[in-house]
Amino acid sequence: MLPESAAARRAATDADLPQAPGVRQSAITEATLPVAMPKTTPPAPPHPSGEHSDSLLRLIADSVPALMAYFGLPDLRCRFANQGYAAYNGHSAESILGLTVREAIGEKAWLAIKPHVERCQQGERVKYVREQTLPNAEVRVIEVNLIPHLDSDARRVGAFVLINDITERWRAENAVRQSEERMRKFAEATDEAIVFHRNGVIIDGNEALLRLTGYTLSEVLGLSIFSFITPEYRAVALEYTRSGREDPYEVTFTHKNRHPIPVEAVGKTMPMQHADYRVVVLHDLTARKKAQEREAFIALHDPLTQLPNRRNLMEQLDQTLAQAASRQGRCAVLFIDLDHFKTINDSLGHHAGDQLLCDVARRITQCVGSTDVVARLGGDQFAVLLTDVQTPDQAAQAADALLQGMHSAFLLDQQSITMSPSIGISLYPDDASTGDALLRCADAAMHHAKGSGRGNRQRFQPGMDGHAMEVLQQERLLREAIVRQSFVLHYQPQMSLHDGSLQGFEALVRWNHPERGLVGPNEFIGFAESRSLIAPIGRWVLHEACRQLKAWQDEGLALVPVAVNLSALEFRQRDLAGEIANVLHATGLPPRFLEIELTESVLMHQTGPVLDTLNALKALGVGVSVDDFGTGYSSLAYLKRYPIDKLKIDRSFVMDAPGNADDVAIVTAIIQMGHSLHLRTVAEGVETPAQMELLQQLGCDLVQGYLISVPMSAHDTLCWLSR
Ligand code: C2E
Ligand code: MG
Ligand code: MG
Repeated sequence: MLPESAAARRAATDADLPQAPGVRQSAITEATLPVAMPKTTPPAPPHPSGEHSDSLLRLIADSVPALMAYFGLPDLRCRFANQGYAAYNGHSAESILGLTVREAIGEKAWLAIKPHVERCQQGERVKYVREQTLPNAEVRVIEVNLIPHLDSDARRVGAFVLINDITERWRAENAVRQSEERMRKFAEATDEAIVFHRNGVIIDGNEALLRLTGYTLSEVLGLSIFSFITPEYRAVALEYTRSGREDPYEVTFTHKNRHPIPVEAVGKTMPMQHADYRVVVLHDLTARKKAQEREAFIALHDPLTQLPNRRNLMEQLDQTLAQAASRQGRCAVLFIDLDHFKTINDSLGHHAGDQLLCDVARRITQCVGSTDVVARLGGDQFAVLLTDVQTPDQAAQAADALLQGMHSAFLLDQQSITMSPSIGISLYPDDASTGDALLRCADAAMHHAKGSGRGNRQRFQPGMDGHAMEVLQQERLLREAIVRQSFVLHYQPQMSLHDGSLQGFEALVRWNHPERGLVGPNEFIGFAESRSLIAPIGRWVLHEACRQLKAWQDEGLALVPVAVNLSALEFRQRDLAGEIANVLHATGLPPRFLEIELTESVLMHQTGPVLDTLNALKALGVGVSVDDFGTGYSSLAYLKRYPIDKLKIDRSFVMDAPGNADDVAIVTAIIQMGHSLHLRTVAEGVETPAQMELLQQLGCDLVQGYLISVPMSAHDTLCWLSR
């Protein structure tokens, strides 16, 4: 038994075994030791008599980097040690033989390992790892194996000691542990979903992944990551994983509740593990996709009505034309413009106008087939693409269905409003072969419908187009007309149904067009309003009507009032009462000989200012009539509120009387209501004696219409008056 060497004692300051140079880089485990020892069966101790095997064993034992020794029981004396072990403890391989463990390794180291040795003595196989500080202050990590040796009768006869320096392996494992810990912290600190997988099998995922997919961690662990990817993207994901590609790509995951989650995936192969260990970062694209879809939708739809917009219509039109061409079929475009929409917008405000447009959009959609396309072209213009029509008649029938569908009133802020469309029809291949041309033809036909009294449909005829150029030209001509005052007034008499006497004239403006001759107001008043040219025209009409009547009166004729029409726009934009007072003053016409005709829409708008103006007119002594009564708003509350003198029953109710019972009922109701409110009633558009007779029976006060006279020029009126 040899005492511990000074060197060994110095080295083993706080550990059982000092470090030998040969041990330092050892990564050898028990299993790789040639001498060694299957896990359960320790090697047989060297046999003293077998000299050859003894030297062979020593050669092998001295060649391995591990430290080895064998101590016999029960005295724990060294029976064998390789050079490494012996040198480690300050001995030679020979001098250490016969020493007890305690003697071989020194007192301090003995105390440290004693409990382990005792366990081994009890027959337990012991393995422990220790840190060991070398004299140069370097810390090494060693792994000590104490393996009990049993003889054939299972008696404990010795203990085998095997020591490996595992500092490098320990450091590497520690680095992985720290790196994994760091990775987990990163993973949890981000909102991006992160999933770890090996060969596609999910081995971990962060909180964000679970939030994104709706699963718990235990539900996804061990499953294939590809099973969460929708089938159409699986091949791509597999390819990226297999080839270790690290650039971003898009796939769709399936949420636990089955909805698809579009994500951008970036996979990275983890460097500290083998190549198929991947970390995949998933960036949720739902919001981006939604924004993209929304953008695409906005680009192709009208924001107010959500209908396809013009661009969308043109795209679908192109497709439809191609299909129609291939099956040698037909399709049609209906161009729809709402009549007098501007008046509603001006009088009820834009909010009501918007609501009406939405209601109209819905109505149109209900009136057409599911394969037809309804689009809003802008403003009050819509288009319907009839994708498959057999005959021109079929397109006309679809337009009629639309006219019919729009017939019933719209409810706006609890007021019911009627609204008619003017519709132009064009057909492929009959009228045009391209989408643009087809829409232009339908537009031109629509303008023709406007010109034909609105609220009807017209099929395109050659010669109707060229409209856009016309508009520019018309605006230029109208501006010139205003400067040159190229307008004339025609006068239409109003007659008493009680005694047949003349009761007044309505002044109706005409434009003396340089090329077309006299042009009626329906063709340019709306246009003048849209170009803000109505005020100067209105001013001229007012002045001219007053001047003319005064002139006739000075000759002792026409001692009756003249009625002047004012558009809703004029009523809002001008200081009417002041202006009218000035005109009356300038022309010398007594106020009681002037009447103003307003439409119902004016009265529905802004109670306060309208009431003020009407009261000021009343104070002047000017009369007020409600024109086209019955076509605008059925709310009658305003009739009581305003100082009104006359109701002019709209021509549309008179037109089909007495044959149409509904119209007769409406006319009857208006006349009775007029009487009870002490308002005079005037029937417009009276053309037949039967109409006149009916109106007389119903107690209508006045009639106006072709039956009495068409509107006449000032000269003709003078002749008419003298007769
Ligand atoms: P309104 O005020 O309702 O005028 C009556 C319209 O009915 C006139 O059309 C008249 O010619 C037409 N009419 C009269 N009797 C009959 C009849 O028996 N049968 C038929 N089918 N029609 C008849 P006109 O002159 O084309 O005027 C159309 C509209 O233009 C007027 O409707 C009025 O709203 C507007 N208007 C006319 N002059 C002016 C004006 O100076 N300023 C403004 N702002 N609008 C005007
Ligand atoms: Mg009128
Ligand atoms: Mg009228």
